Amino acid sequence: SRAILDPANIEYTSDKQKRAVAELVEDFTVTPEMLKAIKTNFIESMGKGLERDGETLAMVTSYVMGRLDGSEVGSYLALDVGGTNLRVVSVHLNGGGQIATRQTKYRINENLKVGDAKSLFDFMAVCVDSFLDEHQIVVRGDSQIELGFTFSFPVLQTSINRGTLITWTKGFNASGMVGKDPVAFLQDAFNRRHLPVRVAALVNDTVGTLLAHAYNHPETCMGIILGTGCNGAYIEKMSNITKWKGETPAEEMIINMEFGAFDKERVVLPLTMFDNKMDRKSVNPNKQILEKMIAGMYLGEITRNVLLNLIDRRLLFEGNVSADLNQMWTFETAYMSTIEADNSPTLHATRKILESTLSFSSTTLNDRQVVKLIVELVGKRAARLSAAALAGILEHTGAWQQKAAIGIDGSLFEYYPSFDTDIMDGLEEVFGPEVRKNVSLGLAQDGSGVGAALCALLASKYS
Ligand code: BGC
Ligand code: MG
Repeated sequence: SRAILDPANIEYTSDKQKRAVAELVEDFTVTPEMLKAIKTNFIESMGKGLERDGETLAMVTSYVMGRLDGSEVGSYLALDVGGTNLRVVSVHLNGGGQIATRQTKYRINENLKVGDAKSLFDFMAVCVDSFLDEHQIVVRGDSQIELGFTFSFPVLQTSINRGTLITWTKGFNASGMVGKDPVAFLQDAFNRRHLPVRVAALVNDTVGTLLAHAYNHPETCMGIILGTGCNGAYIEKMSNITKWKGETPAEEMIINMEFGAFDKERVVLPLTMFDNKMDRKSVNPNKQILEKMIAGMYLGEITRNVLLNLIDRRLLFEGNVSADLNQMWTFETAYMSTIEADNSPTLHATRKILESTLSFSSTTLNDRQVVKLIVELVGKRAARLSAAALAGILEHTGAWQQKAAIGIDGSLFEYYPSFDTDIMDGLEEVFGPEVRKNVSLGLAQDGSGVGAALCALLASKYS
C-alpha cells in the first residue's frame, strides 16, 4: 500500500499551517467506515436504477447479450468519442483470441465540444473519411463497412444501435443533442459525405472494455473506465433487471451503470468546499458528482483550489501565486502522477513542475512537501471512492466469491501511481483478504476500439 507523506514529518512554517494541513487530511480521508457506508448506498442506488428509468444511476441496458470466447472473426471499424482524443480504429478479429488493430488519433478542439452538434458529428465523419483514405480501405459495389460507435456519454439505449443522449459530460456541451439519437446524427453525417459506412452498434466505453477484456479473459465480469471520466459496466442477470420490458433471448445483459452520476442527492460522498468550487465552474454543475471526485478531468482542478486557498491564507508560497496557477484547469492531473511518484528527498520533480511548468519563481522544501501531501490526499480519495463503487458491484453480483477479472482502462489507472493498490486495499477492507486471491484488476487497453468491433459483430448475430 502507498504511504502518504507523513504529515508529522513536515517541518511546518507555523502552527497555523500545521493546523490547516491537519484539517485537509481530515476532510480528504475516506475512512474504512465511510468506504463501507458509500458502498452500501451505492448498492441501493443500483437497485433503484434496475427498477426504473430516470434514477440517479441510469443502469442503462446495453442490449449486449451473450458472452464471447475469442473465436470470433471479422473486420470492423470503430470510432471512439468521449475521451481526450477522437480515435478511428480498424479492427481485425482473427479468431483464437488474435486481434490486429490500426488506429489514428484526432484532436477535438474545445470549440467543437461546445458548438452545435452538427459540426461535431461532421468532424467525426471527416475523421473517418480521412482514415479510410490514409489506410487505403476500399469498399466494393454496394457493400458497407460496419462500424462500432463508442460514444462514451450517458445514452439511454433503445436497441443495439439506437438511443438518446441523457446529458453531456466531461466538458462536452454541444447544443441540440440532449434527447436525440447520436447514431442518427453520425449516420446522417456519413451519408452526406457518401461514406460507405453503417453504424452497426452504439457502445459505451465501459461495455467495450468489458467485451475486449473478456475476449482474452473469459472470467471477466466488469469493465471500468478510470480516465478523463469514470464509469463501470457489469454482467447482470435479466431477472434482476426489473425495468426490462422486451423479450429475453438471453439470461444476461451488460449494464452500463453511469456510476459517475452517483449521489446526486449529496448524502454520502464527503464533498469539500474545494469540490463545490470546481463543480460550480464546470459546464455541468450539480451533475456527475462521483465522477468529479474520481476522474482525471477534475482532480487537478480540485488540487488547484486547495493550493489557492492555502496561498490566500498566506500558508503556502509565502502567499504568492503564479500567473499560471491563477488560471482555471492549469494544474493537470498528469502533474499529480509525477508529484506522487517523486520520492527524492528534495522533491526535485515537484520543484520542476512548480517552477518550470507553473512558473513559480521559487519554492521551499516546505512548499513542495505541502503540495505533495495535498496531491496525495486528492489522489488517494479518488482511488478509495473507486474502490467503494467496485465493492458495491462485487457485492451486488457476488462475483468476489469466485474468480473474477475486472478490465480497467483509462489514464488514471494506467499512469497514476498506486491507484491499483489503493483500490485493492479498499476491496480488502470490505471483503477481507480472500478478495485478493479471487479478484484481479487488469489493464484493458483499447477496450473502446476492440470492444466496439466486438459489439458490431454481436449486433449482426442478433439481427
Ligand atoms: C460518461 C460515461 C463514460 C465515462 C468514462 C462519463 O462521463 O458519462 O458514459 O463511460 O465518462 O469515459
Ligand atoms: Mg477512452
